[in-house]
Amino acid sequence: IAFAHRLTGTVNGCREALQIEESDILIARVGGDEFTISVIHEQANQVAHDIAQALIETFSQPFQISDLESDLVCTTSIGITTCPDDGYTADVLIKNADMAMYRAKEDGKNRAREFQSAHATDSQRRLDIENGLRRAIREERFRVVYQPIVRVSDEKIVGAEALVRADHPELRGIPPSIFVPIAERMGVIEDVGRLAFNKAMTDAQEWQKHTAGLRLTINLSARELANAELMQSLRREVLLSALEPHQLTFELTEHSLVDAQPETLASLEALREAGCSIWLDDFGTGFSSLSQLRRLPVDGVKIDRSFINDILDEPGDLALTKSIISMAHSLNIQVVAEGVENRGQLALLRQHDCDLAQGYYFGNPMASSELLERLK
Ligand code: C2E
Ligand code: CA
Ligand code: CA
Repeated sequence: IAFAHRLTGTVNGCREALQIEESDILIARVGGDEFTISVIHEQANQVAHDIAQALIETFSQPFQISDLESDLVCTTSIGITTCPDDGYTADVLIKNADMAMYRAKEDGKNRAREFQSAHATDSQRRLDIENGLRRAIREERFRVVYQPIVRVSDEKIVGAEALVRADHPELRGIPPSIFVPIAERMGVIEDVGRLAFNKAMTDAQEWQKHTAGLRLTINLSARELANAELMQSLRREVLLSALEPHQLTFELTEHSLVDAQPETLASLEALREAGCSIWLDDFGTGFSSLSQLRRLPVDGVKIDRSFINDILDEPGDLALTKSIISMAHSLNIQVVAEGVENRGQLALLRQHDCDLAQGYYFGNPMASSELLERLK
């Protein structure tokens, strides 16, 4: 009770000092000794830090409880998240605040920590990336690099995954893991994807002169997948292309299929009927369980590289990889291992009958000309 009084007193003090409306701040007890404070403010991040500082100071004073001989001291660990940088929904914001709070605990309690995602970009940097993307699209400044996909049994190259690279000075060094999600949110991923697709189709036709039948793999984001018009035009282009449809594979994440509309599934089916394959990317990290696989229109799964990474020394990851392979095979689904970096991983995958593999061990993503050299 004394703690709660001090907590609300301190937060209310901050609220008045910062001239925040009473309705714009909410204190809640979410469990045992866990509380959340939600603030709506233009400078939310600064306000959060001010409140956190005030709370840490308040709770550095011990509690004197009349019935007890000694004072009680409590520690406070605070995690901070702000919308939209760290999430858009309450669920995500609270989960991320929780993670930040654990970091505060690890760092020695009585402190506040901000949530830091591996990909968190501050708003200025994001603005720069957005502007860079707009220019790069206007000037068509994107490149495509290709990472070989090999057959596990004989390490022969059977295809390559197209990976887009920004080729604009304003986007120097920004990898697709950062700019693709931003392009999705801006609603311009279709433009980026279109440029990449066109380049890749042209390059792949060149490869046929040296290795007929080589497969090209294209990434599709959730937004592209849900765009019926775009999916139809992809299908048209597949049918018109000099490549055989069976040489084309589209990769999408489990995540983008979780709440796919029937129309989305229908456009995937249409691509399959045209002869293309569909693979599930980053398999194992999403929500769909193995048993759901048989309900999805997919021809292959790519085991996420986080599992392959530890396959040699984490029995759990090996067990998971083994069961993905046997379950997929019983459903007639191909298995691709991502992120293979050494011979040991490859040997283990071969032992367990994995079909295809990809990773730095076989080759980094490379220019089309370099891939051609490899093929020769
Ligand atoms: P992804 O589809 O999972 O692509 C594989 C990523 O893993 C690539 O990063 C690749 O360089 C990296 N990688 C390959 N082998 C290894 C390895 O042995 N070890 C490790 N640690 N990493 C490896 P990249 O090229 O930075 O692409 C990141 C993500 O960006 C891709 O993940 C994909 O989700 C997205 N992306 C790339 N190109 C496109 C595109 O044209 N369209 C769309 N929608 N998304 C794209
Ligand atoms: Ca991929
Ligand atoms: Ca992947």
